[in-house]
Amino acid sequence: MIDIDKIRKDFPILSRKVNGKPLVYFDNAATSQTPQQVIDVIVDYYQNYNANIHRGVHSLSQEATDAYEEAREKIRAHFNVKHKEEIIFTAGTTHGINLVANGFSSLIKKGDEVLVSALEHHSNIVPWQMLCERTGAKLKVIPMTQEGELDKLAFAELFTEKTKLVFVNHVSNALGTINPIKEIIAKAKEVGAAVLLDGAQAAPHIKADVQVLDVDFYVVSAHKMCGPTGVGILYGKKDWLEKLPPYQGGGEMIDQVTFEKTTYAGLPHKFEAGTPNICGGIAFGVALDYMNEIGFDKIAAYEHELLVYGTQELLKIEGLRIYGTSAEKTAVISFNIEGLHPYDIGTIVDKLGVAVRTGHHCAQPIMDYYKIPGTVRASFSFYNTKEEIDVLVESVKKAKMMLS
Ligand SMILES: *Cc1c(COP(=O)(O)O)cnc(C)c1O
Repeated sequence: MIDIDKIRKDFPILSRKVNGKPLVYFDNAATSQTPQQVIDVIVDYYQNYNANIHRGVHSLSQEATDAYEEAREKIRAHFNVKHKEEIIFTAGTTHGINLVANGFSSLIKKGDEVLVSALEHHSNIVPWQMLCERTGAKLKVIPMTQEGELDKLAFAELFTEKTKLVFVNHVSNALGTINPIKEIIAKAKEVGAAVLLDGAQAAPHIKADVQVLDVDFYVVSAHKMCGPTGVGILYGKKDWLEKLPPYQGGGEMIDQVTFEKTTYAGLPHKFEAGTPNICGGIAFGVALDYMNEIGFDKIAAYEHELLVYGTQELLKIEGLRIYGTSAEKTAVISFNIEGLHPYDIGTIVDKLGVAVRTGHHCAQPIMDYYKIPGTVRASFSFYNTKEEIDVLVESVKKAKMMLS
């Protein structure tokens, strides 16, 4: 069991009020809250050893470099990455995906096919559409079912010799569905396609082992797992990262520069042009320490309890429909109430201190599939409680009364 009282004390924001009511924060799938341990490390960095890394001979620069590289090592260990240089620091998931999509421009040609799923976040759709526009490759979509799962019957047929790349999210941000990534990776291997997993929504709940998964690319954002915004990582197999051209040119990523020719630095620096989010990277490492200390098994078990309870209590409200009913899902509940607009529900529950997300959740194709403008999404984290779910349910009931 997790010690919920102790954990909640680590998050100062959880004791504030919103609109005169105690904050109930259920927008964790958009960004998570930050524990004091991570806040402290950010303050400590700027108070004590703020300096640019890798280039300086002076002591502060050395301290900052050591701390940044120590964070890379923590991240390596967390995802069980084989080589440290397979971890590229990025500005987040979106950046990581664009880096790969851009790099594949020179490795993909007209007639090739790339596979996406119907359950993707826009950031795992648009960069690939742009890649297809540049190269003439064809974008194919793995369809979804009413339950909000990928259609397993349809998906096998979509893999052909022409398939060069497959990109799916490990967990859907709009519905919480945990996708059958093992099957997808196995199928991709059969046809020799590379797989990129968008782990933004999975990493806060499931500890992925990239070697066991044998996945080619895995991307995450720190801010969805107790870290700061503007930092994340791209994991890529060394062979791929060596093959891909650099994404951005600049300082840090070079070996030799003359006006005739520039040679690039080795991994990971080839993909890390410019001064990175040094403090953010260090804080990401500490966020992982924090979550690992609680334990991902415990986090997953507790969040599942919240999911089961929340589902059961919300379904007691007449006219409420939950979208995404897969047996395999994280603690995300996307719902609507018949005849009401999600935005109106979100606005009223906010007045009662409850933060939920409303809209299409950057996943318009899913909304189109269900023929709805959007949903209300409550997404739980390990620092939430059943009592908070009760507040949500009461608030939604009130909203329903006021709006009907
Ligand atoms: C949040 C999210 C993203 C985008 O992450 P950024 O940190 O905004 O770059 C991509 N995919 C999924 C599944 C997400 O949940």
